[in-house]
Amino acid sequence: KAPDPAIEEIAVKMLSVKHKILVLSGKGGVGKSTFSAHLAHALAGDSNKEVALLDVDICGPSIPRIMGVEGEQVHQSGSGWSPVYVEDNLAVMSIGFLLSSPDDAVIWRGPKKNGMIKQFLRDVDWGDLDYLVVDTPPGTSDEHLSIVQYLSSAHIDGAVIITTPQEVSLQDVRKEIRFCRKVKLPIIGVVENMSGFVCPKCKNTSEIFPSTTGGAERMCEEMNLTLLGRIPLDPRIGKSCDEGKSFLAEFPESPAALAYRSVVHVP
Ligand code: ADP
Repeated sequence: KAPDPAIEEIAVKMLSVKHKILVLSGKGGVGKSTFSAHLAHALAGDSNKEVALLDVDICGPSIPRIMGVEGEQVHQSGSGWSPVYVEDNLAVMSIGFLLSSPDDAVIWRGPKKNGMIKQFLRDVDWGDLDYLVVDTPPGTSDEHLSIVQYLSSAHIDGAVIITTPQEVSLQDVRKEIRFCRKVKLPIIGVVENMSGFVCPKCKNTSEIFPSTTGGAERMCEEMNLTLLGRIPLDPRIGKSCDEGKSFLAEFPESPAALAYRSVVHVP
């Protein structure tokens, strides 16, 4: 079977993007989209950098809400889809912008999802970028295979994998790691999210999900991966996200904001 010409077209498109980072998680609900959004915000904190966040989490596109641009319309012009700008140097594109109802995409069949992923990688009019952060669906689905295939001729920096400290999440992360190794997707590292709770009053950290197996740190050692950081649980994150505000801007000195920002020196 002849390779899809889109692979070459996407590779050409990606020549104007310096760093391409995929965000993955073994499970849903571990904070992958929240992390993607904060990574994008943190990278865009350097006003000399052009940053884009692409949400291809087809079954649960939560990025528009988190970035405070829910209900925005994107337009298709001669040069492609125009993204929505959250800051001068931070552009967002999400499947969510194209759905008439948030539940729409759930019933899409494989080919329609693949077509959309292809268009998003090839046809969004970002201009030159320093960073493209791609928020992917949870797990290792057919969509991941398409994303990896479509990007196979583009040089991706790699994947950042998000997990919580519990063994149930780590088990799925091990599957995710095996997937990455199988498809030769480099792994930049692992981020442990909801890793302890810093009491706002006494500032002590308590482990909410005590791990019997050493958590992400131990797994990283075993699997020869870098633990990029640990982000504590902070209820204000959910609140900021629900209101579409940047938690980093609202609580810049909180332990969670510091943790998000410390992961930024990714590639
Ligand atoms: P996923 O993309 O993995 O499905 P989300 O990013 O949507 O997960 O996060 C799931 C929920 O957890 C959201 O309500 C989000 O606000 C919340 N959340 C994520 N990270 C944290 C954190 N470090 N502290 C507190 N709440 C968090």
